[in-house]
Amino acid sequence: MQSQKQYRPKFSFECYSPKTPDSIASLQSTQLELAELNPDFFSVTYGAGGSTRNMTFETVMDIRNKTGIECVPHISCVGNWDNDIRSMLQKYIDHDITRIVVLRGDLPSGTVGYGQFQHANELVEFIRKETGDHFHIEVAAYPEFHPQAKSAAVDIENFKRKIDSGANSAITQYFYNPFSYYRFVECCEKLNINVPIVAGIMPITNCTQLVRFSEGCGAEIPRWILKQLYDFGDDRDAIFKFGVDVVTELCDQLLSNGTPGLHFFTMNRSAASNLIWKNLGLDERQTA
Ligand code: FAD
Repeated sequence: MQSQKQYRPKFSFECYSPKTPDSIASLQSTQLELAELNPDFFSVTYGAGGSTRNMTFETVMDIRNKTGIECVPHISCVGNWDNDIRSMLQKYIDHDITRIVVLRGDLPSGTVGYGQFQHANELVEFIRKETGDHFHIEVAAYPEFHPQAKSAAVDIENFKRKIDSGANSAITQYFYNPFSYYRFVECCEKLNINVPIVAGIMPITNCTQLVRFSEGCGAEIPRWILKQLYDFGDDRDAIFKFGVDVVTELCDQLLSNGTPGLHFFTMNRSAASNLIWKNLGLDERQTA
């Protein structure tokens, strides 16, 4: 973890593009509430398919215009060919967007292929070739390893490919066992991967949803957490309070050990991220 201590920590909130009038209204209030915490940036996920693609851009501009805070689009390989990516990058450059999160994405069921780029490292390489150093490129990292990884060692080598292709920093998949993150970072140090690896943080507010997500993305929910979540049953207040306690403690430990930032997967809700942020005293941090 030694090498991570040299980076100034960055704190950010991830949102997704809303689709219904209710979810649009909900994101509007969420972004304003979270903006008051003065994050380093917001980011907006990228959905596969034509209409959702444009929504990433629109949501990014909306958040930036309404909050005055940098907002970062995610971009993925799914369904994209070089010309699609080229015109998307040009639009971002034209709108003074200088940071992007670059991913492979997951194939929606029923779709056949990713498009021109099979893995995120190929897309990073293409973006660097096309736009030089214009963008600060973030990529994903997996302390508990990507669910499709052939082995732990191969997964870390594949992570290194993304950095070697020109990524500047990484955000991890969420995890609740900080040791998985510490070990991952140590493995990276041994391979001379020298970029900030920011911890992705998933607040716990809904047991069923968390279990479903975690099965999909390969994040482990420790037994001691899951057992207690099941005990709470439908008591949403108890789940919320327990979740805020557990995740605050996780974040506190990570920061004490030199993690260079936290990236909250907000699910377009502010309450849990807001409280964890305040518990950690991040609203009073120096941002200069
Ligand atoms: P890759 O780095 O390409 O890795 C995917 C798998 O392929 C891994 O098993 C890896 O070991 C292997 N691999 C990598 N490179 C190679 C190679 N060159 N040759 C052979 N094997 C290789 N998804 C979205 O659709 N939209 C989003 O906005 C989005 N945002 C995310 C934000 C964060 C912070 C994280 C952690 C994930 C996000 N995801 C998003 C999910 C992500 O798209 C999935 O986890 C996806 O399955 C992998 O994406 P990746 O960029 O890590 O892929």
